[in-house]
Amino acid sequence: MKAMYFNEFEGELSVVDLPKPELSPNGVVIKVEATGLCRSDWHGWMGHDVDISLPHVPGHELAGVITAVGSEVKKHSVGDRVTVPFVCGCGECEFCLRGDAQVCPTQTQPGFTGFGSFAEYVAIENADFNLIEIPEGVSFSVAAALGCRFATAYRGLVKRAKVLANERVVIYGCGGVGLSAIMISKALGATVYAVDVNSHALELAASLGAIPINSTEVDPVAFLQSAGGAHVAVDALGSETTAGQSILSLQRRGRHLQLGLMLTPTGLSALPIGRVIAWELDLLGSHGMAARDYSEMLAMVASGTFNPSILITREVDLAEGLISLQEMSSSSPTGITVIHPSGLGSEVTH
Ligand SMILES: [Zn+2]
Ligand SMILES: [Zn+2]
Repeated sequence: MKAMYFNEFEGELSVVDLPKPELSPNGVVIKVEATGLCRSDWHGWMGHDVDISLPHVPGHELAGVITAVGSEVKKHSVGDRVTVPFVCGCGECEFCLRGDAQVCPTQTQPGFTGFGSFAEYVAIENADFNLIEIPEGVSFSVAAALGCRFATAYRGLVKRAKVLANERVVIYGCGGVGLSAIMISKALGATVYAVDVNSHALELAASLGAIPINSTEVDPVAFLQSAGGAHVAVDALGSETTAGQSILSLQRRGRHLQLGLMLTPTGLSALPIGRVIAWELDLLGSHGMAARDYSEMLAMVASGTFNPSILITREVDLAEGLISLQEMSSSSPTGITVIHPSGLGSEVTH
């Protein structure tokens, strides 16, 4: 099978021929029809992710068709259209049993703990626990685009920050996760402010109903405080600057939500903790979403409450996807890029 591959961090990326993944008794093999390109894939290639061993095939936001089923799998069959959270749980620990597979201590992540979906085929373990059937009317591209950034934003805003109608929400960073957060906050009835330095990203944010703030022209913290302060502030980029600005944009008793992975190699960041204490702020994280919570989100997509397809700005094959991943070293793509490893012919939404 064709797969994107590297055997050295920051080294050469290439599309090579590899054997198809092996089928385990509790797993399945999926023919990948669509797989999102994410900043986390770039971090993996750079060697920022301790879970990755070499050589490696990246890719963790996937949707496709089951082509082989292990002997112990009961709920799924060959031909099923499926997707999977980027965090797969063991299905047996106290966190998985509680419904919080997104923080399973022995989690597996395709494209991080093993070979991922920038390939024609990918293997998924614990299929009965982790696979999600894609409802009719939801395309492979949209299902793939939901898997990481949208699901992380959805869980963060709905389940962690618990955004209410008429609250002020500010989103720092208008990449894939930031735009997802805008769309979800608007659907929850919030007034949404979007901060970025890229005017094209801000245009997309405004088209989703956000009030755009270009932080090269306007101080977003002063702007938000003059508006009464945000009830919920989101760092969807992942930097010390934006995390700090997010916290300082809050009103008293506000909630800061960290969605962006910290770009520092250690993941550490200085934060205005004095403000956190004095104003009784909450600091929240969000790490994907468990498979069992997907049905609620997918139903809202199928019914048209959310339309993540408008976040998909490019659909490419593996060779072009490789170039897009390399380009992340010098720039951030606008919107979500979806790769079709099995070719562009099968299903393209744009
Ligand atoms: Zn577990
Ligand atoms: Zn991702």
